[in-house]
Amino acid sequence: MPPRSQRQLRGDAAAIAGAAQEGAAHGSADPAGPDTASPATGAGRTTSGSDAGDSLRILALACADCQACPLAESRRQVVVGRGHPQARLLLVGEAPGAEEDASGRPFVGRSGQLLDRLLAEAGLDRERDLYIANIVKCRPPQNRRPTAAEMAACRPWLDRQLALLDPPLILLAGATALAGLLGIRSGISRLRGQWQTWQGRQLLPLFHPAYLLRNPRRGPGQPIDLTVGDLIAARERLQALTRPDAG
Ligand code: SF4
Repeated sequence: MPPRSQRQLRGDAAAIAGAAQEGAAHGSADPAGPDTASPATGAGRTTSGSDAGDSLRILALACADCQACPLAESRRQVVVGRGHPQARLLLVGEAPGAEEDASGRPFVGRSGQLLDRLLAEAGLDRERDLYIANIVKCRPPQNRRPTAAEMAACRPWLDRQLALLDPPLILLAGATALAGLLGIRSGISRLRGQWQTWQGRQLLPLFHPAYLLRNPRRGPGQPIDLTVGDLIAARERLQALTRPDAG
């Protein structure tokens, strides 16, 4: 497929944005319509790298003008996602903070820098191995947690990202990601490190890097070391999926 022009991309973006506003008003799961995410082995994905990149750029253009919840009033810009368009590992966090709101990129502040160090320690490359997104795409005032209504309004955008990326592995960073994607509100400590299965995907809850910044001690059983262990487990599953005999 030839690359789409900027005009075509903007036309596609406007169509998706219109569907998203409609979906937010009526509780639809996906701005593109019904849930198009296939049970994720990754094997059925047919989009090329450039197609996937184009689709994610269209999504970002559409999301940039979203007014589907009150967070639109206070944001500087939406923070849609970043990473490799064909990554098989998606990390979902909570919401943009001040630095993300200013830069338009997720996980670039102190939490993101810590995340980068832990990913590297676990043998994962943020740009090559991951795509990173948040439950809500706009910064909540004073970095408060997003409300249930805001998470519900923003869910169609995450669902569209899931449909485009079709990641077989998902890391859920923090309790809000766990609640926002799976509706589980039991807290992160009870489930972190335990693989979950959802829509054919394997999900691993983790501590959020912001929590790790508040608990910086290292050592066996400390949150940072537990998180590195979780990331190593994710890297091993990723490698198992990409082995030639993985099917
Ligand atoms: S948080 Fe999500 S639903 Fe709310 S305005 Fe931003 S992009 Fe739209």
